[in-house]
Amino acid sequence: MVLYPVIRQLLERRVVLASASPRRQDILTNAGLRFEVVPSRFKETLRKAAFPTAYAYAMETAKQKALEKDLRTPDIVIGADTVVVAEGEILEKPVDKPDAYRMLSRLNGKEHSVFTGVAIVRCSCKDGRLDADVSEFHEETRVRFSQLSEELLWEYIHSGEPLDKAGGYGIQALGAMLVEHIHGDFFNVVGFPLNRFCKELAKLYCPPRPEDVQRVKHDSIPSVDTFENLSDVESDGSSQCGARVGGGPPQPPGMKNTKDRDPNPTVESLPPMGLLQLINGFKASKALFTACKMKVFDSLRDEAPLSALEIARKIDASEHGTGQLLDVCAAFGLLEKTERGYSNTDLASLYLLSDGEYSLHGFIMRNNDLVWPLFSHLEFAMREGTHQLHRVLGTMGKHLFQDFHYGSQEKRQQFMAAMHSLINVAARQVATAFDLSQFTSACDLGGCTGTLAHELARQYPGLKVTVFDLPDVIKDAKCFQPDGPETARVSFVPGDFFRDTYPEADLYIVCRVLHDWPDNQVHQLLSRISSSCKPGGGLLVVEMLLDEEKRENQGALLQSLNMLVQTMGRERSLGEYRHLLEMHGFTDVRAVYTGSAVDVVLATRA
Ligand code: SAM
Repeated sequence: MVLYPVIRQLLERRVVLASASPRRQDILTNAGLRFEVVPSRFKETLRKAAFPTAYAYAMETAKQKALEKDLRTPDIVIGADTVVVAEGEILEKPVDKPDAYRMLSRLNGKEHSVFTGVAIVRCSCKDGRLDADVSEFHEETRVRFSQLSEELLWEYIHSGEPLDKAGGYGIQALGAMLVEHIHGDFFNVVGFPLNRFCKELAKLYCPPRPEDVQRVKHDSIPSVDTFENLSDVESDGSSQCGARVGGGPPQPPGMKNTKDRDPNPTVESLPPMGLLQLINGFKASKALFTACKMKVFDSLRDEAPLSALEIARKIDASEHGTGQLLDVCAAFGLLEKTERGYSNTDLASLYLLSDGEYSLHGFIMRNNDLVWPLFSHLEFAMREGTHQLHRVLGTMGKHLFQDFHYGSQEKRQQFMAAMHSLINVAARQVATAFDLSQFTSACDLGGCTGTLAHELARQYPGLKVTVFDLPDVIKDAKCFQPDGPETARVSFVPGDFFRDTYPEADLYIVCRVLHDWPDNQVHQLLSRISSSCKPGGGLLVVEMLLDEEKRENQGALLQSLNMLVQTMGRERSLGEYRHLLEMHGFTDVRAVYTGSAVDVVLATRA
């Protein structure tokens, strides 16, 4: 395909780049394109949750940038938006150094994707009316970071480079030293997929000659690969990604534009991929839970690759069923499948082994054994407006923890294992979200296994932490004690936070505690904390934060529903916490959105 001549064709036209990014300008200038830069004032505030995929979000942002109204009519406007996506979450530009640290830690030692959405808007004036024809596409490049030391990450953050870069790094400069390898277009990571852009332009401005099309005619059904080529060459010049303003939904990955396959386009009648994923989401969760429960990942810890039959024997299951579950796990990126058999991916080794350092096994088992059946009673919870523990556990009672979650020693230990496994993966981000070095004593109310307390003691050598929890929990907490000198600064005190006097401290912590209780008990707790806290002392609230309008953060909204079915509480937004905390004498309420399982709010006692 001719790439360079298409740039030459544009020399006579008025081309506008709707982006202030100097990196994009460099790439296009070096390619020989002449253009004016009219930076877009479009604020990148589209609701990410409204898009089924990260690339759809990037494409829409690019289109909105390119479609700004008050430009003097150019021939072509180019808009672009680059996003970094790690484990399904879009990472924006970091707001400060701790935020950059959070992002880079997420990328460290792992693979992530960089998507650039590009919109090419061709403008024309007909009867005094501006007509805009929009072609959009996106390009993905996969980037793998080396396993980097903390020192190196901080050295890089202190260089100042991460702060204006999506995902917190710039591959074209110092950030190159973080990257082990990439798969895809390098320029796409820098901010503009030049090669694909030229191909798309060529489709728009250099339609293939009929004799070229003839050469790729097929006598039989072409292979999947050749279908790709066919759609490139036989395109009618309106681009396979082309869409009029306000046209149909973006094409889900792997689906061809219906126009290429069907003379009577029915794109609107296809359910969007996001909806299908939503419908099927429960199957994915259950497949993961089952693989964990049947110890599929454990079976591959010491010996791999293994065939489906070998794994089936180890986990005492049928070969047929095991093979199907293994393939699903491989498709999710949890297992690697080769002709020699299956092995754990890094993701599975880190999080899914039952005894790994960052194992989520306890949390997954709680989801399988309790949360799953609770969610199947969601309809009752909606009608009754309360938890469904009695229906699932078969016991009645009025004390949330004593009667339900801690109904037997086994249940209590399962609960504690689940709490430990989830907070363990987020503890460092929680402990470092704010600089807490001015505090010398902290008390973690409902601190359970002491997992966060140990991390705080590790991060702040001048800090002593007391874990305050119900007596039975304190008795069992020693099973979760890590090794390390900081354990000497962590102590455990039994008590009831609704009745007993709190240990003295200049920082109080409530981590995933307030969301368990109805408003009246939240007020009771905050009032007791406020009375114990000295002026100038701190309160750290650790919870998943909802966005103020309660329509964006899917994870937190689902977690709130989760609270409905298994406690008497709910999640809240920063504004709601600020209001609550100020009512109880706290001021200077600030939050860090960690992007992990929980966010962190810090307030000062006035
Ligand atoms: N903070 C821990 C974490 O994030 O992993 C545990 C959170 S768990 C959802 C709530 C904790 O509050 C449990 O450890 C529970 O035992 C404790 N708790 C519940 N009621 C309590 C009470 N009346 N007094 C003290 N602790 C209580």
